[in-house]
Amino acid sequence: MTLSHRITTLTPDGDDGWGLFYRSRQMIAAGEPVTELTIGEHDIRTDASILEAMHRAAAGGHTGYASVPGTPALRQAVADRISQRTGVATTPDNVLITPGGQAGLFAAHMAVLNPGDTAGYIDPYYTTYPGTLRGAGAVPLPITTRAAQNFQPQAEDLRALKGAASLLVNSPNNPTGVIYDAATMGAIAAAAQEHDLWLISDEVYDTQVWEGAHISPRALPGMASRTLVVGSMSKSHAMTGSRIGWVVGPTEAIAHMTNLATHTTYGVPGYIQDAAVFALGEGEALEEKIAAPFRRRRAIAAKALAGQNVVRALPAMGAMYLMLDIRATGLSGAEFGERLLDTHRIAVMPGESFGTSAAGHIRVAMTTDDAAFEAALHTLVAFAQGLA
Ligand code: PMP
Repeated sequence: MTLSHRITTLTPDGDDGWGLFYRSRQMIAAGEPVTELTIGEHDIRTDASILEAMHRAAAGGHTGYASVPGTPALRQAVADRISQRTGVATTPDNVLITPGGQAGLFAAHMAVLNPGDTAGYIDPYYTTYPGTLRGAGAVPLPITTRAAQNFQPQAEDLRALKGAASLLVNSPNNPTGVIYDAATMGAIAAAAQEHDLWLISDEVYDTQVWEGAHISPRALPGMASRTLVVGSMSKSHAMTGSRIGWVVGPTEAIAHMTNLATHTTYGVPGYIQDAAVFALGEGEALEEKIAAPFRRRRAIAAKALAGQNVVRALPAMGAMYLMLDIRATGLSGAEFGERLLDTHRIAVMPGESFGTSAAGHIRVAMTTDDAAFEAALHTLVAFAQGLA
């Protein structure tokens, strides 16, 4: 029996970009001590207070089918959060609750793309993006950016979007840690209007801002009617396994995405949604507590990388990653990553896993305890110096 073209070509070269991560997990399973700086997952668990709220909700009976677009309380809480933080009036009808940001990204693209449409995204990119776009029937169009411009897309880069139907952007950015400034977001909004694009704005790292300010492009003039914002509690509340996120956009788009949810996910468990209402109710204090380890490690990294020029860090403005330029070693990011893993049992992600723009770079997730993180960075720098 043959499988569908759609599913077998989701990741056409058979490489999902995670090879080095899988290898490091195999080494750990075999008992080898690997410092893992690969995946974007906190080294803390979901806060006990959130788990207690989840338990209370489940024990209290919220275990049946929940309202498909999300519970009224959670849709209201998300709408309030977005209204307060962006200044754009947002009601529960502008909000669809999804099983994580990933499902939100898929729903958003399903809502705006016809089969064969061109869907733009910025390279370097979060590894699932092209597969998600193909899953929605689109032809992915990567927009190349440059390390010398801190991977911020330029107005001339965005001209390639002529004829496209959508553009997917992500700030604070995974994998680069860069936050798009007002000029970049302005250029993105102008390109969306000029080429009549839907803008999908992935804002799952909006609570991890170390430098500069997070700008939601939905708040820019004329953009609310053509922007779908994808959010998630995975990163902001260390709730990766709870699978809880949202899409915010025009009411008509949300209504159609609700219909899609009826025919795919059938919503998100009610007790998870109740826990999310509790967590959002804790406000910025809880978000700060969860972001604090990354803020600390960013400072540790700045010290560990000072006084040498073999490993050059891109400005770590937000999100839980450092993007390091290792081109002075003469190796590709993939070669550097493999050798670092074999020689020093330190696992990082090759820049090439995130597209062609980040070749010769590595992404370091700041997701291990401070002492191990600092030691790994010193080893990494010494290793790079030995190669250069
Ligand atoms: N967008 C970006 C940029 C991400 O890094 C991730 C997770 N690593 C997601 C979306 C999806 O996250 P989730 O489905 O857990 O909300």
